[in-house]
Amino acid sequence: MKLNRRIFLGTGAAAAASLSAPMTFAAGHGKPHVVVVGGGAGGATAARYIAKDSKGEVAVTLIEPTRQYYTCFFSNLYLGGFKEMDELGHSYGGLAAGGVNVVHDWATGVDRDAKTVALAGGGSVSYDKLILSPGIDFVDGAVEGWDLSAQNAMPHAYKGGSQTELLKAQLMAMPEGGTFAMVAPPNPYRCPPGPYERVSMVAHFLKANNPTAKIIVADPKPKFSKMALFQEGWANNYDGMIDWIGEDFGGGNVSVDPAEMTVSIDGEVTKVDVCNVIPAMKAGRIAELAGVTDGNWAPVSAYDLSSKMDENIHVLGDAAAQGAMPKSGFSANSQAKVCANAIVAALAGGRAFPPRFANTCWSLIDTNDGIKVGATYEASDEGIVSTSSFVSDVGEDAATRETTYRESLGWYDAITEDMFGTA
Ligand SMILES: Cc1cc2nc3c(=O)[nH]c(=O)nc-3n(C[C@H](O)[C@H](O)[C@H](O)COP(=O)(O)OP(=O)(O)OC[C@H]3O[C@@H](n4cnc5c(N)ncnc54)[C@H](O)[C@@H]3O)c2cc1C
Repeated sequence: MKLNRRIFLGTGAAAAASLSAPMTFAAGHGKPHVVVVGGGAGGATAARYIAKDSKGEVAVTLIEPTRQYYTCFFSNLYLGGFKEMDELGHSYGGLAAGGVNVVHDWATGVDRDAKTVALAGGGSVSYDKLILSPGIDFVDGAVEGWDLSAQNAMPHAYKGGSQTELLKAQLMAMPEGGTFAMVAPPNPYRCPPGPYERVSMVAHFLKANNPTAKIIVADPKPKFSKMALFQEGWANNYDGMIDWIGEDFGGGNVSVDPAEMTVSIDGEVTKVDVCNVIPAMKAGRIAELAGVTDGNWAPVSAYDLSSKMDENIHVLGDAAAQGAMPKSGFSANSQAKVCANAIVAALAGGRAFPPRFANTCWSLIDTNDGIKVGATYEASDEGIVSTSSFVSDVGEDAATRETTYRESLGWYDAITEDMFGTA
């Protein structure tokens, strides 16, 4: 394996220890090699678990361009003022300490015959098994008038970090009585309740800081995740502030003009102060470049998340078309553990457990007003299928809502440690 040392990074002693590791694979010491592309919810978990569960019998390289991963989960709470941005950042020191070789670079292509991944910094990495967990990219032309070159004027804030900070800065700079618009995405997309938790958190911020401001949501869907719960919360806490325009009212007939800061909804043009455009999504581009998508998402087996197009490639998290699980960080983490278990069993002879998956999506509507929806799942030949589910009740008492919110805080700490370990 050729690896350019300039792009081989990490922190502290763990990084120093791992610097020599790629040479080990180059010298062909005979360990099977798993390469993971994407160090987010799915990829970080998979890399950590394969290194841990194979007890060093499988070499693991993680390719991820950023040195600090900022979670999208809880980024809405940052907009609402319940979290600071630095509380959402996670480094890769814990993975390096756990024996994962962390390479900070972009994967630019996959040669499936040669079983190599090309790197933007030069060179390539060979693999026995490749895991792709690149998250999402946006569908070109999904919202008329918007493309990536407009993301500074009209941020999506649907990838963590700087986009979320930009949206918050724009929210804070809104004139008194101004208008915040959101263009919501069509199904399927990352985090089904995410746009509506965001509307809640923006409303929470505006109620305290700019109470005559308005929120317009143009939505191509007739209904959305936890709709009755959100609408109850909006009526109780932000009455008259939020105008949700669904498919039945022309919410899907939208165009934007980033230069003029206008939004046209079903022919009616409105001048706005902030416009959060969340376009239609598809699998992160590297999955497309690897040739394992159907044009949008990557079809996988529910049993081990292996690609239906290449048994040596597994696709996790948002990028995967796996069946019934929503595209969430919790789902990506759950899928990663099933995938890691299957790969360790195949490469190092460990025991393969029957695949079981779980997901819960918590959302915050207002202070201490938490709601949740979740399910358990198993694998079938048709895909991942739900075996049981639950959702918060409309009209729940305040104590239950506060307990739900506290539960979500505990979940965040536990799952990010499960993904990134401790350095
Ligand atoms: C506003 C919002 C709120 C959310 N709230 C929740 C929540 O409360 N609970 C929950 O469970 N989920 C939530 N989510 C969803 C969650 O963030 C995603 O579902 C999850 O991050 C998906 O994990 P992933 O591994 O598929 O992708 P990601 O976590 O996005 O990770 C992908 C990684 O791949 C890297 N990458 C991409 N391309 C390449 C390449 N070519 N080479 C190398 N690296 C590459 C990226 O840099 C990134 O680090 C929320 C999302 C949003 C936007």
